[in-house]
Amino acid sequence: MAFHWHETGLADHWHAYAWNGSERPPDSDRRDQGSSSPPLEISHWLRQRPDYVKATFKIPDDRDKARAWLQETLDEYPSREGPFSRHKVSELTYTSECLESDHDVVWGYYSASGRYVSRGLIFCPRAGERCPKPPRR
Ligand SMILES: [Zn+2]
Repeated sequence: MAFHWHETGLADHWHAYAWNGSERPPDSDRRDQGSSSPPLEISHWLRQRPDYVKATFKIPDDRDKARAWLQETLDEYPSREGPFSRHKVSELTYTSECLESDHDVVWGYYSASGRYVSRGLIFCPRAGERCPKPPRR
């Protein structure tokens, strides 16, 4: 569900967040908004420090760049198991649908190398949240 908040005058975009760890972080870390851990609430990614934003992709112009950013993650950190192990982003129906319909994409999985990999493409602007890093026009 994407919320539009046009009063800000900001065009729709995604903020890209990335976090890797040795294991899935405990909920206590995920509730700590000063932490770079993937938060429990999707909208709370936007409350993290602006320098945790790895990239910002404008919608719809940068949709392919957003997809490529996710693909890089799979190339670098193939999954240990599950659908990510055999499929590329283009075949991940759910991810593609999220991208095509301007929704959030949130991944959390264990890589073949034993890392916990978390990635978020978080739709912005959204109600109740401040844009952490407005895209350049
Ligand atoms: Zn934003």
